[in-house]
Amino acid sequence: MIRKLGAKAHIAIGLAFLVISIVLAAGFLGLIPDREAAVRDGRIALAEAIAVTAAEMTARGQVDWLAPTLRLVVKRNPDVLSAALRTEEGTIIMQAGPHAANWTLNNADMSTDTELHVPLLSGKEHWGQLELRFRPVTPEGLAGWLFNPWVKLVGFIFLSALLVFYFYLGKVLRHLDPSGAVPDRVRSALDTLTEGLLVLDRRQTVVLANRAFAEFTGQPATELIGMNAKKLPWTDSKGGDFNLKAAPWAHALHDGEVHTNNTVHMRAPDGSLHTFQINCAPILTGGRQPGGVLISLDDITSIEQNSIELEKAKDAADSANRAKSDFLANMSHEIRTPMNAILGFTEILRRGYSRDGADAARHLATIHSSGTHLLALINDILDLSKVEAGRMEVEAIDCQPYALAHQVIQAIGVRAKEKNLQLDLVVDGRIPETIQSDPARLRQILTNLIGNALKFTEHGGVTVTLALDTRNDPAALRIDVHDTGIGIAQNKVDQVFDPFVQADSSVNRRFGGTGLGLAISRRLARAMGGDVTATSVPGEGSTFSIALTTGSLEGVRLLDDAALQASVAVSADVETARWILPKNARILVVDDGAENRELVATVLGEFGLTLDEAENGQIAVDMAQAKTYDLILMDMQMPVMDGYTATRTLREAGLTTPIVALTANAMQGYEQEVIAAGCTAYLTKPVDIDALLATVAHIVGGYREGTNPTSSVTKNVGEPSVPDRSAIPSRLATKTRMHPVIGKFVLRMREQMHAIEAAQRAHDFSTLVELAHWLKGAGGTVGFDAFTEPAAELETAARANDAAQSALWVDTLRDIADRIAAPGDTPIVTPRKTKPCAPAKVIGPVRSRLEANPRLHSVIGKFIQRMHEQLPRIEAAHRAADFTELAGLAHWLKGAAGTVGFDDFTEPATELEAAAKAGNNSDCQRWINRIGALTRQMTPAGSTIDITPSRAP
Ligand code: ADP
Repeated sequence: MIRKLGAKAHIAIGLAFLVISIVLAAGFLGLIPDREAAVRDGRIALAEAIAVTAAEMTARGQVDWLAPTLRLVVKRNPDVLSAALRTEEGTIIMQAGPHAANWTLNNADMSTDTELHVPLLSGKEHWGQLELRFRPVTPEGLAGWLFNPWVKLVGFIFLSALLVFYFYLGKVLRHLDPSGAVPDRVRSALDTLTEGLLVLDRRQTVVLANRAFAEFTGQPATELIGMNAKKLPWTDSKGGDFNLKAAPWAHALHDGEVHTNNTVHMRAPDGSLHTFQINCAPILTGGRQPGGVLISLDDITSIEQNSIELEKAKDAADSANRAKSDFLANMSHEIRTPMNAILGFTEILRRGYSRDGADAARHLATIHSSGTHLLALINDILDLSKVEAGRMEVEAIDCQPYALAHQVIQAIGVRAKEKNLQLDLVVDGRIPETIQSDPARLRQILTNLIGNALKFTEHGGVTVTLALDTRNDPAALRIDVHDTGIGIAQNKVDQVFDPFVQADSSVNRRFGGTGLGLAISRRLARAMGGDVTATSVPGEGSTFSIALTTGSLEGVRLLDDAALQASVAVSADVETARWILPKNARILVVDDGAENRELVATVLGEFGLTLDEAENGQIAVDMAQAKTYDLILMDMQMPVMDGYTATRTLREAGLTTPIVALTANAMQGYEQEVIAAGCTAYLTKPVDIDALLATVAHIVGGYREGTNPTSSVTKNVGEPSVPDRSAIPSRLATKTRMHPVIGKFVLRMREQMHAIEAAQRAHDFSTLVELAHWLKGAGGTVGFDAFTEPAAELETAARANDAAQSALWVDTLRDIADRIAAPGDTPIVTPRKTKPCAPAKVIGPVRSRLEANPRLHSVIGKFIQRMHEQLPRIEAAHRAADFTELAGLAHWLKGAAGTVGFDDFTEPATELEAAAKAGNNSDCQRWINRIGALTRQMTPAGSTIDITPSRAP
């Protein structure tokens, strides 16, 4: 039983006994007053006092007077039971209370606690005794023992000491560090564990916590000791209150079993919720219940997080997989449909099943439209996958939303005319003249939305409204395309933005389309920081809205409808373009596909050009070296020798003939590759006939019917007073990518024209020379060759301080400037909805400004030769990363080229020098490419290929 008592009780009992022993010792030493002895002494004193009185009375002979005294004593003292006087002979002569019968002692006996006798003297004679009978000092029997004051004292002190010590120890022990009992070495071993370790006693009070656990709670381990486990920040899995009764350690303490792999949660001091895997082992001390529990805690928060992430990733992968499967299923369906038509009708034609020519033409039209559809589908899918993969790069450059919308309407307005629909462009309030966006993408979105609106409308029309929405900051440009067409059912309005979704399954049959346009438009708009949304009422019409971020509008003019209408130029009709090509031009077509050669030969043959064909690079190299051509059209992927190698070989052999790459590779970066190989320009396959004609015309010196070979420059620049009032498109307008550059140029040009006029009025000839020089170079660079001649003339006149001539040329330039429209007039070719396809950077023949002087021809010739020697040195210096050498060569080029009139080199040489000095490898590469391309196009003075505008008379 004692063993079952706790340590605290043991100590308390021991201490209580100790106190009792001390009290008893004090009692024995007489340090504690004795009540019984005091009572006895009192009784003796009383007896003696009565005895003295009796002796006195006897001496006076008044013994009888003693009787009332005795009665008084008995009456007054409850302790005194009886009193009597007895003679020597044993006769009681007087008594008070029941005495004689109760008296037990003989005369010779000693007095006891209850019977006391005192001798009575008369003089010296002993004549009798006084007898007093008392109650016992302590009660008789067990009660007497129990009421013994010693027993009471000892009992009281023992019990109260026991209690006091027990509680006192309870308090004190709690504050004593039991972990001090754990040896230091063991402690530091426990502290090195990354797992948290906690020992609780039976009452779930912490008796030990290692460092890992303490660190987690953010409290020192010593603070945790003595704390009840319920005060620790446990939570349930969602951060709510934790049911402590269900705690695994409570179970372990209760059933004495080991509980493993339970999960508990705790909030860290920073508020984050952590998950622990815990194991609870009871500490068995031999008794029925465990004495405590050992808990190990493993923080598995990150593992849990990872598994959640993993789960999410798996879900995403699953849904991506499903989407891919759906996509493939859709794709194969989409491709099969037009394929069926192509193969079916081809077969019909092959077998000669068509009844007549008209029948055959219809079949061919179906085949052609199926092919076109297929191509559109492939382009859309390429676009979609690029945006989906985040590889679609969107630009944020100056672009003119009104001009863009206007161009799109111009381009596809013909469809409205065909269906007799109204197609309007309106501006609500004032909108910025330019915004920061991606013009090519915006054009694509607009083409799709306006195209859809026209497609799904039979009566009424389509209105495109531009407005500046300033409700939010930053402001947004809103373009609404509203139609009065068939509309879309309410539950389909959102779905039409999903790939391959068409609002109505009959749509495809009735209207065609891939169901990808809106998906692409929305994704593009979102990539540009905007969105495309739709509202629609079936049977009444739909409104598709584009919201676009505008970028900073600081310094941008806000124009109204009238001002914007005035700003857009009337443009030539693409569809009706006819080309005039020089009949004597010789062209080599290099392609391994006979059909492709045939197609090109047929198209160009129509124009009377002389065509030669080669079926691989090797044959082309041989032919090009044997004969002179004005242009080589080179396929890039061919057996035996590919186009890259052939071009490089020809360039290395010193051939300067323009080479236009034909490539089916629509992947990013191929442009640089073909240009680096030495090509002058490139066209993508399948070859768009308009793009092909534009490029060939550009290189061999052709022009579009209705325009003049001198690129719309006034026929005779000597007669500026009779100007041609038609709009002047940029030669690079075919290249969507160039539009922003052209746009920027136009803005800058307008400013510079004011400066030119001001300088001319002020007769500030040096400024005039500078400005004219800039215009001469910059205008040509962005394809406005019309500026080149008059600007050069102005420069000359200004140098000569000739005010009259200057004024004449300034007027001419003003006239040209007024006919230049905002970025990229309606492109000469709009081959596809998506880029790229139009000719890339076409570098025309590079000529010297000084070639008008025949005496300088040999100098120019020598420089060209020198340049062909210097180019490999420049390239070698770059390859060796010898930037000092590179900077030196660039510096030479900058000076020398300008001296002999090859101003085209000035900018790239200056830039190359700067890039070399800065050690900027990629910039160096860029400018070297440019210089290389210019070098290859350097044309000796007096040579015949000339596509630049005619010179002044
Ligand atoms: P496509 O026109 O090639 O089928 P889109 O993604 O451009 O693909 O359009 C998806 C569908 O949305 C169309 O098939 C048509 O059902 C619906 N839709 C788009 N624009 C309009 C519109 N202006 N009016 C009615 N329905 C439209």
